[in-house]
Formats: sequence, C-alpha cells, structure tokens
Amino acid sequence: RPLVSLRGVAKRYDSGTVALQGVDLDIGRGDFLALLGPSGCGKSTLLRIIAGLASPSSGTLAWPAAAQDQRGPTLPRLGFVFQEPTLMPWATALANAALPLRLEGVARSEREARAAEALKRVGLAGFERAYPRALSGGMKMRVSIARALVTRPDILLMDEPFAALDEITRFRLNNDLLEIWQEAGFTVVFVTHSVFESVYLSRRIAVMASRPGRIETEITVPAPYPRG
Ligand code: ADP
Ligand code: ADP
Repeated sequence: RPLVSLRGVAKRYDSGTVALQGVDLDIGRGDFLALLGPSGCGKSTLLRIIAGLASPSSGTLAWPAAAQDQRGPTLPRLGFVFQEPTLMPWATALANAALPLRLEGVARSEREARAAEALKRVGLAGFERAYPRALSGGMKMRVSIARALVTRPDILLMDEPFAALDEITRFRLNNDLLEIWQEAGFTVVFVTHSVFESVYLSRRIAVMASRPGRIETEITVPAPYPRG
C-alpha cells in the first residue's frame, strides 16, 4: 500500500497553462523520491499538489496508508522545506524549530526538548539560543530542516531546498540529510535541477518533461555501496 497515490493528475492554471498532464505516481513509505527536470516542467506544481497546497484540475490524489487508520481517514503529517529558510528573525533557533509544535499546542517544556533534539539531529547542538542573523546560510537551512522534522512527519517535501547554497555546503547538507533519513526512515519527495543531487540522494527519480508537464520516465537508483 503506497503512502501517496496519484492517478491521471492534470493541472491547468487559470491563465490557461497546462502545468501537468497524465501524472501517475505511487510513493511508498520510506521512499526518497526526486522530481528532476527542466524549469517549467511542473515540478513545483506536482509537489504543491502532493502537499495539498494546490488541487488537481482532474485526476485523483489519495493517501491509502493514512486512510487505513482505525480512527477513520487521517491527514498525513507533512514537513516542508523551501529554498528560502523563512525563519522568524526575532526568534532563536530553538523557537524557530519549535514553531510547528507551538501551533499544535504542545506544552513549552516538551516542545523545547523536542526542538533541541531536532536541532541536535541536524548538527546544531549548541546553537539553540542563536538568532538567524548570526547563522550562515547552511545553518539556517539546517534550522529549517529541524523545524520540518520536529513533528515527525510522514513525508518531508522539499522544493529545491539547497539551490541557493554554495556547492560544498550543499554537499555537506546532502550527506547529513541522508544520514538523518537512514536513521529515522521518513519519506522524502524533493524537487531538484541537479542530476548529481538526485542520483546521490534519492532511491527513485521521476524524470519530468515539459509541454505539457509530465513524468517522462522513472529511474530506480541502486544503492552503490553502504553509506555512513
Ligand atoms: P517547475 O517547478 O518545474 O519550474 P512549475 O510547476 O513552477 O514548474 O510551473 C509549471 C508551469 O506552470 C510553468 O509554465 C509555470 O509558469 C506555470 N505556473 C506555475 N505556477 C503558476 C500559477 N500560479 N499560475 C499560472 N501559471 C503557473
Ligand atoms: P519554481 O521554479 O521554484 O517553481 P517559480 O519562480 O516558477 O518557482 O514560481 C514562484 C511562484 O510564482 C510560485 O508560487 C508559482 O506558483 C508562481 N508562478 C510561477 N509561474 C507563474 C505564472 N506564469 N503566473 C503566475 N504565477 C506563477
């Protein structure tokens, strides 16, 4: 049973642009899936549809594994990482990472403990009290990943998360993200322009093409050697 299942998904914007057509995609629990393709092929649109931030014009999106829950249909827990870390400048790294828990009404002591744990996982132990302006671009991105993971999401959705970073910082983040994923085993879907990044990070690559945006082919990446 896949976690997410899309069938015949199309997206036509009000402007008339057909951003996606005929998208069939199953995403399993624990998958690490890259959406790879040129600018304008509909990667962000597809990610936003999976995230529930945009609705398909036709076709279906289902969460079969979430629907299995005894208490009836449940909403999947989503974690988001965007290209801009979008941290609150007036709040510490700890408060930024704890924000989703605060919105869920989790008590302060618990949310601070969980946010500190999330910061530790992304390599920011010791920076709990730092403000965003004192952090480098890579560190801000780490806080943003900690914030996305703090609710222990079913699926982590990332839209070109590391595109604004220099190449070495980006490579370090790739390695750390792989390590966190191997430990925690959540599902990841991310958008990238980078063939290197998609092959290095993911286990499946949906290669997309334009006019209309669609998945042209799917590639399974063999794990070439044990990492870590
Ligand atoms: P990608 O992420 O691969 O660059 P997008 O999903 O952002 O592609 O865009 C796919 C196509 O849909 C592009 O032609 C883009 O200009 C168009 N598009 C994206 N968002 C909107 C929108 N909100 N309104 C109208 N057209 C859009
Ligand atoms: P990306 O390449 O990451 O998809 P874009 O610069 O294409 O980013 O899009 C940024 C924002 O602008 C998105 O919210 C998208 O929906 C919107 N957008 C993109 N293309 C169009 C368009 N042709 N008309 C209206 N909004 C658009």
